[in-house]
Amino acid sequence: MVKPLLLVHGGAGDLPEASRPLHAAGCLEAAEAGGAVLESGGSVVEAACTAVEVLENNPIYNAGVGCALTRNGRVSLDSAVMDGKSRNAAGLAALDAFPNPVRIAQRMMEEPEVLLVGQPASEWAERHGFRRVPEDELTTESARKQWHKVVDEGADPNFAGGTVGCVARDASGNLAAATSTGGTMGKMPGRVGDSPLIGVGTYADDRCALSTTGHGEAFMRAVFAARVADAVRYGEDPQKALCRMLDRTRDFFGGYGGAILITAESGPHYFWTTVGMSHAWWSPDGTGSGI
Ligand code: ASP
Repeated sequence: MVKPLLLVHGGAGDLPEASRPLHAAGCLEAAEAGGAVLESGGSVVEAACTAVEVLENNPIYNAGVGCALTRNGRVSLDSAVMDGKSRNAAGLAALDAFPNPVRIAQRMMEEPEVLLVGQPASEWAERHGFRRVPEDELTTESARKQWHKVVDEGADPNFAGGTVGCVARDASGNLAAATSTGGTMGKMPGRVGDSPLIGVGTYADDRCALSTTGHGEAFMRAVFAARVADAVRYGEDPQKALCRMLDRTRDFFGGYGGAILITAESGPHYFWTTVGMSHAWWSPDGTGSGI
């Protein structure tokens, strides 16, 4: 038996000083919700999805309510879930306005397909009982302001306050990972980032689970999560593997970001090459958060 553990992130970036406590508190609330699922005997997948759902519902993060918008001001969501034991996985990309994409990905794990994109993905979600909402319901004033800055004033589409993710482990060492995002502010319509791609932004197997945040194009070029997972499988220290790959993603593939990782027996492991990354963890011994 190992100690259960759940770790969440609320995005890597350069958050204004004033909003940091709020971001850390939101992560802690999500970690506690996921931890409660583990404590009551729920699965690691359910725990990870519950934590991500809490973050999607919180308007300060770039996922679900408060998501980033495309260049033409539209909602386009990416999400993925992976179960380390069965290796079942599902991702959805360029999804229309659904409040909780992570729940759609969780449901899609029952299908043989691993990735659905665009209109057919949204239609599949509706056919399976998920409620599409008007885009305004997911668009906050602050996201709209940020969108104006990026699209009209040419500001840097900084991913601060970004993507959300969770990795979870139960007492048997089973692992799961889940990630959800609105992507980068002002992104090209149809653009897909690293988050919904299994082995890039989301990954779990019998040895480790990862969720990433940051400059998705660089993480895709780096084939991030699968490389870290294999390095851990073949003996590299998990924290070292994570730091090495984030440094490599910055230095060799040209992008900044962060990631969370737990293994079947160790963690929490987290690291970022941005100014910060809001995060929190839960274990039966207690909780903590940081930024
Ligand atoms: N990684 C996400 C993407 O590129 C953005 C983020 O982490 O904030 O879509």
